[in-house]
Amino acid sequence: MVSFSYGNSRGKGILVDLFNSFPAFSRRVEGLTLDRASLIKLEFGLLIPPFLPNRVEMITMGYVDLHLHTTASDGVLNPSELVRYAKAKGLQAVAITDHDTIDGCEEGLSEGERIGFEVIPGIEIKHSTGSMHILGFFLDIHHPSLNERLKYLQRARAERNPKMVEKLKRLGVDITFEEVVKASGGGQVGRPHFANVLLEKKYVRSFQEAFDRFLKKGAPAYVDKFRFTSKEALHFINEAKGVGVLAHPNTLGMNGYSELEKLVLRLVEEGLQGIEVYYPEHSAADVAKYKTLAERHGLLVTGGTDYHGMEKNGLDIGVGRGEMKLPYSIVENLKTVRNRSLSGR
Ligand code: AMP
Ligand code: ZN
Ligand code: FE
Ligand code: FE
Repeated sequence: MVSFSYGNSRGKGILVDLFNSFPAFSRRVEGLTLDRASLIKLEFGLLIPPFLPNRVEMITMGYVDLHLHTTASDGVLNPSELVRYAKAKGLQAVAITDHDTIDGCEEGLSEGERIGFEVIPGIEIKHSTGSMHILGFFLDIHHPSLNERLKYLQRARAERNPKMVEKLKRLGVDITFEEVVKASGGGQVGRPHFANVLLEKKYVRSFQEAFDRFLKKGAPAYVDKFRFTSKEALHFINEAKGVGVLAHPNTLGMNGYSELEKLVLRLVEEGLQGIEVYYPEHSAADVAKYKTLAERHGLLVTGGTDYHGMEKNGLDIGVGRGEMKLPYSIVENLKTVRNRSLSGR
């Protein structure tokens, strides 16, 4: 479904497959790697056939997005804005999954209640080895041990961040901790905010260059910080009545199915209940592989865009690069599994 405006009138309709219907579209993008959705957004004003609307927005009526970041971590929209945006886009439910924090959940939940939109309180926890991320859904955000565990992570950040400022200063970068805090917009302070300051002060020409030259693991301003193991993360997610899911398995860098299966089986023993099968960086082959894995081991299938704000990486809420469509049944299945585990206690 797409919503469109034409002059002063607005409406909704079916998205026309522009590549097939209008070969001129394909010709215009030869040599470019634009995806379908952004092509529509970019090209509509220029190449629009007169009988089609002059502005088309991808709308995902009735779909869900279960991987989203807010200003509580490194997203662009605050929780209320995110929830209103999701509703305006026609989504049916979202999960707020900020890195290491549930600070955005309360606001997101109450805004959802106010405007009549389903919000799932969640989190994304990085495993101690880095490339593995664990998502937690339907958390009891007031659970004492969850909050206590998360304080650990906040303390680890609070200790690391000033050390990174010192390293940068020693590298000749004129930067203060206050500037980084300001860049964080009041939420949790992380390396992306360091990157933004470096970019703003023209020490680098791009966000990525800031990571490559200064901030990534092994780079001269990098400082390690405490992280939980998957076992610990899954334990406190489950304790807080949440459902633990392996995020975007493609970042694990495991090519073979059996290697991944072995890891997943270990995680299942630690309390894992699902796999994030749908993700913008997953190829069709990845999706098929992860789906098979989930099916074989009775695991939930989830998905989300990892939306941080369109301006950050061009991925939009609900649709990613235009290809995502995640049915509400994903949420229903999560609820079923959660209720089953809760009543089994
Ligand atoms: P932090 O938790 O403060 O260490 O920051 C982690 C965040 O930095 C990740 O969620 C990414 O958004 C970003 N990040 C980490 N490594 C890289 C990298 N090599 N290139 C770009 N962004 C990165
Ligand atoms: Zn992030
Ligand atoms: Fe992640
Ligand atoms: Fe994420």
